[in-house]
Order: sequence, then C-alpha cells, then structure tokens
Amino acid sequence: MLSCPRCGQPIEQTDCYCRRCGKALQPGRGFLFSHTGIILLALVLGPFALPLVWISKIISPLAKWIYTILLLAVGIYFVVVCYHLYLSIQDAASLMLGGGF
Ligand SMILES: [Zn+2]
Repeated sequence: MLSCPRCGQPIEQTDCYCRRCGKALQPGRGFLFSHTGIILLALVLGPFALPLVWISKIISPLAKWIYTILLLAVGIYFVVVCYHLYLSIQDAASLMLGGGF
C-alpha cells in the first residue's frame, strides 16, 4: 500500500494527486505534460516550453525529439524574422535620417 509522502494518506498507484492534501504524486504526469498541454504551452511560450517536454513522463522519447526539433525550428524562424524586421527598421531609420525629406 502506497501512502502520500506529505500527509501519509493511503493512495492508489494511479492517483496523480493526493486526495487529502492535493500533493502531486507523479511529477511529469499532469495535464501540462500531456500532448495537448505541451502543444498549448508551445503556442504560448515557444521554445521555452522545451523543459516541460523533457520533464514529461507521458510523452515518448521519439515524440520529445520531434517536439524539440519543431520548437527549435520555430525559435530560429522567430529570431530570423526579428532580425529582418530589425534590419528593415534600421534601413527605414537611416533613410529618414540620411538623405530623406
Ligand atoms: Zn497527502
């Protein structure tokens, strides 16, 4: 028989959270670590969702690599887009300051 490490309440092996004190019993198994949770987080956080992918115990190692590659690709794309945006702003600024008007 398993018991909660925080309060000692007997728990089922399949419980994700203690029924008495609410302690997470299986780190890496909550909703945020499911595929749905990871995808939602990736949309919000981008590459910063990667640590969650690797902590997750639900996602298979192959899927972790796929997520990692996808998130890194999106991250790099984002940096490139920002860089081009920065360059075009710089161009516009130098046009206005330089021979503009
Ligand atoms: Zn407990």
